[in-house]
Amino acid sequence: MSQTLLRLEGLTAGYHGQPVINDLSVRVDRGEIVALLGANGAGKTTTLKTITGLIRPQAGRVLFDGAVIHDWPPHRIARRGLVLVPEGRRLFPRLSVQENVELGAYSVAGRPSEPGLVEEIIRKFPVIQERSRQLAATLSGGEQQVVAILRALMASPKVVLLDEPSLGLAPRPVRQVFEVIARLKEQGLGVLLVEQNVRLALGIAQRAYVLEGGRIVAEGSAASLADSELVRRAYLRSSG
Ligand code: ATP
Repeated sequence: MSQTLLRLEGLTAGYHGQPVINDLSVRVDRGEIVALLGANGAGKTTTLKTITGLIRPQAGRVLFDGAVIHDWPPHRIARRGLVLVPEGRRLFPRLSVQENVELGAYSVAGRPSEPGLVEEIIRKFPVIQERSRQLAATLSGGEQQVVAILRALMASPKVVLLDEPSLGLAPRPVRQVFEVIARLKEQGLGVLLVEQNVRLALGIAQRAYVLEGGRIVAEGSAASLADSELVRRAYLRSSG
């Protein structure tokens, strides 16, 4: 049986008939973190919108878990087990941590979760469990990002798409968030990690794709990309 969960084949998509991403071919396997790297405006968010069904491709296909999904409505894609943790976390600040996680079930299935599922998910993350009754607004940025990831787990996903999880976080909370991302992989999920912070992303991913102007300009193992001239010149300059 193929280990590939998500596959983009020659994907072209954009807005008002104008392509923003061109001919992307990307794959995410079970138990693998794949980074999608690129500067502002490279087309990373547009790629995620196309995968999650918010934008219809102009050409190419999206396959997930054995099905061609690019013409499915977003809720059907999410129900199949492909979920997005959006940029900026989007928690409800006046609801508790537990309530925020619980809402993950509504957003996918439109109904309350299985009894005990929220507690089961939260229990695995002691830092969050200790704070489960606090208002989300009282958590640090890193903790809020972890809550946003746990909310996505309520959908029992096979693949999680993460849009800029390190955005606005200091190094220590970033480490906390990335430890949680590593655990998703250990649980056998596929992770597509969209990041502007190339050094961080290549530190956690097994493979990566580099997007420039809506096209893939480099791809390969994280180690080979970290060594590549193109990536070092364009994204890792401060390392010398
Ligand atoms: P960022 O990290 O800044 O979000 P990105 O790599 O995610 O960058 P996209 O958000 O996918 O890039 O944007 C790629 C291009 O598509 C940009 O030129 C942007 O102006 C354009 N674009 C994004 N959203 C829309 C929209 N709703 N309508 C028209 N053009 C858009």
